[in-house]
Amino acid sequence: MGFSMAELFAKEGAKVVMTARGKEKLDVAVQQIRDQGYDVTGVVADNKNLDDVKRVIQTALDVYGDLDIVINNAAIGEQKMIDETDDEWLEHVYQTNVFGPFRFIREALKIFLPKNEGCIINISSVNGDRPFCGASYTSSKGAINTLKKNVAMRLIDTNIRINAVAPGATVTPAHLANKAGEQPGGAKMLEYSKHFVYFPGPECDPMDQANACLFLASDMGKHVKGQVIQVCNGAFYKSVQEVKTLLAYYDQPEETTDYSVICSFTPPKELGKCVYCNHCKPCPVGIDIGLVNKYYDLALAGDAMAVEHYRTLEKNADDCIACGHCDNRCPFSVKQSERMQEIRSYMGLKTR
Ligand code: SF4
Ligand code: SF4
Repeated sequence: MGFSMAELFAKEGAKVVMTARGKEKLDVAVQQIRDQGYDVTGVVADNKNLDDVKRVIQTALDVYGDLDIVINNAAIGEQKMIDETDDEWLEHVYQTNVFGPFRFIREALKIFLPKNEGCIINISSVNGDRPFCGASYTSSKGAINTLKKNVAMRLIDTNIRINAVAPGATVTPAHLANKAGEQPGGAKMLEYSKHFVYFPGPECDPMDQANACLFLASDMGKHVKGQVIQVCNGAFYKSVQEVKTLLAYYDQPEETTDYSVICSFTPPKELGKCVYCNHCKPCPVGIDIGLVNKYYDLALAGDAMAVEHYRTLEKNADDCIACGHCDNRCPFSVKQSERMQEIRSYMGLKTR
């Protein structure tokens, strides 16, 4: 995912500092982007280490003269349930998933605050909100979402923005390992959580996540602060059965989903009378059809205030263009377009 982000940002004109813990893979990634003619620099670094974090930022300043955008993408995915998680593992996951982003945000703000400009993006996860993977991983993603909100409040009177992108299932090596039950913890947690999360698919591409980052980092996202953009192709927090029941609607024959039978329950003497329900909305010119009818009936009944209230409406029967949309949608067979003409004449006389 980080490679796609670096590649996309470089193509869009950014000077990119890429980091990884392993030099070999980092060198290959850097070269691949350089081969396309773009300017990127690689720094071997681990966000668990404050000196490394400082060195990454200093490299951006030394090589490119400034720092504008920080993306906290490094993370450890895992599937260990709470009863499988010891303190050592918790510390291991939190160091990368929470403490690392914390350090990068704090150190980047030393550059951003004096110039009152900058953009921070945390790569969170749908697990920050729907915790169906390991206990350490999911809670760490919830933690950085909360951290992001806290920092956004701190920065509210500045031009520095912090947001998050929350990927759902995205085709990355970590995700493929997860699907194969090969992440630490295996697949037991997913057995418990599968009843609560529904994922219609298909899986996202790493570039989907990069595009969301680009939006947040660019002028397109200039008024987005403290938010989480979920890029997950609709991973719902519902029981699978509940979603299947809802989707079954679309497999029903037309006669089963034709609710016009409800109209036949209307007592015949009520047919043609407006009951102000507004089921005929929307009116293309914005008339509140129910309210206009209500004031009309009250006015007919002698309520002088009803005429006054009618006058205050932004749109009334005078605005009706007799399009007939409301006639077709009224379950009580009110010929509303004709009635609007009637109301227009009556209220016109009253308000003259
Ligand atoms: S015209 Fe029909 S649908 Fe519209 S408010 Fe009146 S009764 Fe309801
Ligand atoms: S007929 Fe008049 S009130 Fe009815 S939807 Fe058209 S414009 Fe609106």
